[in-house]
Amino acid sequence: MIVVLSRGAGPGDKERIRAYLRDRGFAVRDQRFGEDEILGAAGKGAVDLRELGILPGVERVAATSKPYELASRETRAEDTIVTVGGTGGIPPVPIGGARITVIAGPCAVESREQILETARRVRESGAVILRGGAYKPRSSPYAFQGLGMKGLEYMKEAGEACGMPIVTEVVSPEFAGDMKDVTDMFQIGARNMQNFELLKKVGALGKPALLKRGPSATIEEWLLSAEYLLASGTRDVVLCERGIRTFETYTRNTLDISAISVVKGLSHLPVIVDPSHAVGIRAKVASAGLAAIAAGADGLTVEVHPRPEEALSDGPQSLFPGQFEKLMRDIEALAPVVGKELLRTPRAGGGSAPRRGGGGTAGAGETKGGPESPAEKPIAFNGERGAFADQALTRLFGEEAPRVQVHSFKEIFDAVLEGSAGAGIVPVENSLAGSVHENYDLFLRYPDIAITGELKLRIVHCLIAAPGATLDSITLVRSHPQGFAQCREFLDQRPHWRLEAHNDTAGAAASVAREGTIEAAAIAGEAAARVYGLRILKEGIETNPLNYTRFLVISRRTAGGGGWTHPSLGSDRPTKASVVFSVPDKPGSLFLCLKSMADRGINLSKLESRPIPGKPWEYQFYADVSVPETEGAFDAALGELKTRTEDFRFLGAYRAAP
Ligand code: PEP
Ligand code: MN
Repeated sequence: MIVVLSRGAGPGDKERIRAYLRDRGFAVRDQRFGEDEILGAAGKGAVDLRELGILPGVERVAATSKPYELASRETRAEDTIVTVGGTGGIPPVPIGGARITVIAGPCAVESREQILETARRVRESGAVILRGGAYKPRSSPYAFQGLGMKGLEYMKEAGEACGMPIVTEVVSPEFAGDMKDVTDMFQIGARNMQNFELLKKVGALGKPALLKRGPSATIEEWLLSAEYLLASGTRDVVLCERGIRTFETYTRNTLDISAISVVKGLSHLPVIVDPSHAVGIRAKVASAGLAAIAAGADGLTVEVHPRPEEALSDGPQSLFPGQFEKLMRDIEALAPVVGKELLRTPRAGGGSAPRRGGGGTAGAGETKGGPESPAEKPIAFNGERGAFADQALTRLFGEEAPRVQVHSFKEIFDAVLEGSAGAGIVPVENSLAGSVHENYDLFLRYPDIAITGELKLRIVHCLIAAPGATLDSITLVRSHPQGFAQCREFLDQRPHWRLEAHNDTAGAAASVAREGTIEAAAIAGEAAARVYGLRILKEGIETNPLNYTRFLVISRRTAGGGGWTHPSLGSDRPTKASVVFSVPDKPGSLFLCLKSMADRGINLSKLESRPIPGKPWEYQFYADVSVPETEGAFDAALGELKTRTEDFRFLGAYRAAP
């Protein structure tokens, strides 16, 4: 049941309503639902709805259609983002939202050395949370039962050494209190999903909980178990699909792929997948994990062992570290297709903060010292809230990142230069429409601005309109001209629709929302529908689904280098650089420039020529090149390039988006 409070309700009213519900056997939780402040009441208590409805401060009372109220999307429309860690020097790691979070580690902690080694290996591949069982629920009483508290302490040491929060299974309410101060997240194992005393105890401790689905549990039973945790006091519950028992015995369990989107529709809680216990066969784990990501999972938990053949439990399903590394690379490449970013640790060298999508909290610690750190200053983007640039910003810096909206690309450069924004985000290229020349030209006009990051965002256009509108009621469609161009096939089938060009797609959506008529619609992203409270009439109306826009992060150049280090880079080595140059007007001069790079194995991923302002028929070349790992090769190539060009500018080195 949901009690929506009236706008004028004061703290006294709220307390009285809360007490009224508690006295009648309900667990009460404060929530927000859009603009509304609500109290979620869950439990078996009996209440007179009319009496409740007339208490001072009550706007309305709504019974949810689901038996799990706090876990239901009816109570909370936005995705919950659960933060794990963030205390005692361990970076906070978010799960849910626009990111993919990967947990990895051995099935069980076997020794101090084993967990330290595994932690190091999985972290090197980009895992952001360490898993490992200290108390193991085993089918046989004679099998290895885990090292208990000693094992948990080894795990904590390994987590601290690698800067990763830890998650471990709690098998009994009796152990939970002692484990609370050591673990960052409790795992409720599949066998314990309906151990209600355990759920109540863990929920009351208030720490994040990872709730595995029971091998024979229905989705509703699973969500009711989540409800136990939420009703007992924690808000941070992550659901984990780990395979269910079916008639099929070839694999250990059957991965219920469809449960991912079903549960994400029913609940606001993040859903991750454990492909290891789902399939139980090492060679089949990675494909199941990738399928889960493609199906919309918010992350994975994967068993990895440095020597699986020696593992004391679940060796046959544990990945070798090299296999895990490959899986992480594949997830990174797949993530943009589902509109997400893999949250990962920097690839090489020190540093412990996760990069990408962690934004604001995670990763920001790495960038301290730079005057333009986005942790302190907002990030500038062009357009309205809900624009694709706004989505790109969220993917790179996180939902909480402060942002400033401007109304032209030039204003982004100005804001970054003046320091009112710590960084900016500019689109430079669309895979169908080509380059955004204005931004290329701005780089020339702003020599103090450097490129520090890159993101490729998949552009999925939707037809969105006010509630009540249908495809038949629409007569007018608003969007950016690019939106129309990219949805040409869809629009051609509806020649009677009038098209009205707007400055940006989200602005078009905002105007549709302001008017609220059922005749107007906008072509914009799904985020715009969310921001302006509009309905999606049709999703994915772009003619070509392989539609990506490449955004660059820009920041002010620091005295000695290319600019502030974006959290996406962390302590990573840059893999890509952008330069701009002009060449003498004689045969072979461009060829020789390119040869300087080719001779050193530097790959050219883009070459674009632009007219030089004020010099008709003379051109500058913009080049994106790979930065080779070989020490010195890049500097040598740049050195040679400078001698062969007339005007040379280094725009920045950054980590290439997958
Ligand atoms: C585990 O993750 O260590 C485990 C025992 O998994 P499950 O509870 O899903 O079997
Ligand atoms: Mn296991």
